[in-house]
Amino acid sequence: MTLKLDINPIKAWLPHIDNPLLIAGPCSLESEKQALDTARLLAKDKRVFVYRGGVWKPRTRPGSFEGVGSVGLSWLQKVKEETGLPVGTEVANAQHTEEALKAGLDVIWIGARSTASPFVVQEIADVLKGSSAVVMIKNPVNPDVQLWMGAIERVHQAGIRNIVAIHRGFTPFRETKYRNYPNWKTVIELRRTMPNLPIICDPSHIAGKREYLFEISQKAFDMGMEGLMLESHIDPSCAMSDAAQQVTPADLGKILDKLVIRYESADNPDFENRLDMLRNRIDAIDSELLEMLSSRVEIVKEIGAYKRDNNVTALQINRWTQLMENRVNLGKKLDLDETFVKILFQLIHEDSVRMQTEIMDEEK
Ligand code: PEP
Ligand code: MN
Repeated sequence: MTLKLDINPIKAWLPHIDNPLLIAGPCSLESEKQALDTARLLAKDKRVFVYRGGVWKPRTRPGSFEGVGSVGLSWLQKVKEETGLPVGTEVANAQHTEEALKAGLDVIWIGARSTASPFVVQEIADVLKGSSAVVMIKNPVNPDVQLWMGAIERVHQAGIRNIVAIHRGFTPFRETKYRNYPNWKTVIELRRTMPNLPIICDPSHIAGKREYLFEISQKAFDMGMEGLMLESHIDPSCAMSDAAQQVTPADLGKILDKLVIRYESADNPDFENRLDMLRNRIDAIDSELLEMLSSRVEIVKEIGAYKRDNNVTALQINRWTQLMENRVNLGKKLDLDETFVKILFQLIHEDSVRMQTEIMDEEK
């Protein structure tokens, strides 16, 4: 299913953009000085296009810093006046949205905890009606692409056309390297369903630690994402929220220097010709793969009928264990990734068992 929503490209609201969309600024605005000092340094880097600063902070547990509130909006106005950068903040309810629009913010974003709640998103969308603000929608904390799409649709139904999706990772169910694990599959699914929706990445909230910002940012560009939102603080060690994942504007510049920006295609006919040739080979191999799988299915079915006629179970654990061991070893010799081979044969085997149980349940 493809949804052709009427969504503007980034260039429609940022005509001078000549690089991926980079949004940078502190996790939380803490004081007028911190907001402005950070902004002045960031604005010197011409790769930064939008300044961010959280004023209402949705915290998972009570008791941590919950943001400076509405006063922060006036600091964002000052940042905009002084640096000329468009400014944005996160809104978590209708009242925040009203205040942010009244303060003339250019960008507002719906945070991951809010996207997870359709009522909250609808409440925000109702306030947004008639506004020309840019609205960014972070993925919900749980890896539910439908919920993410639903939030985008609600904002779109409110008449908003400047929409951007932000991938900020999902809450892990166990300790992982990253604070929120990225799920690039979900991003691909969103891109496939809403092809004209710009999608950017928030490596800061995926990483949780500044040392991982570069690798996640590069991965985002490798996946064809159109920009980044990165948290930057004048003095990260003193930050009142998300201290471990923020970087100084200077360190942000260093990360940007190292990143290789990739484009959907290269302006080079030789590149396109060679890519076409390689893709034709892949297409031919894929069709052979499918034909082989289909031959395999025929034999699986024959075995199923044979087992049924002899009252033997569809699943034989010993055979399965041996098969898996053998395929993994074979895969290793062929330089295939072990996990990949395991998952592939789990799928193939699962489907074989499904077919055989179906055959067994058929009338003889
Ligand atoms: C943020 O951007 O500061 C933030 C709280 O993000 P998220 O909603 O992704 O946790
Ligand atoms: Mn943060």
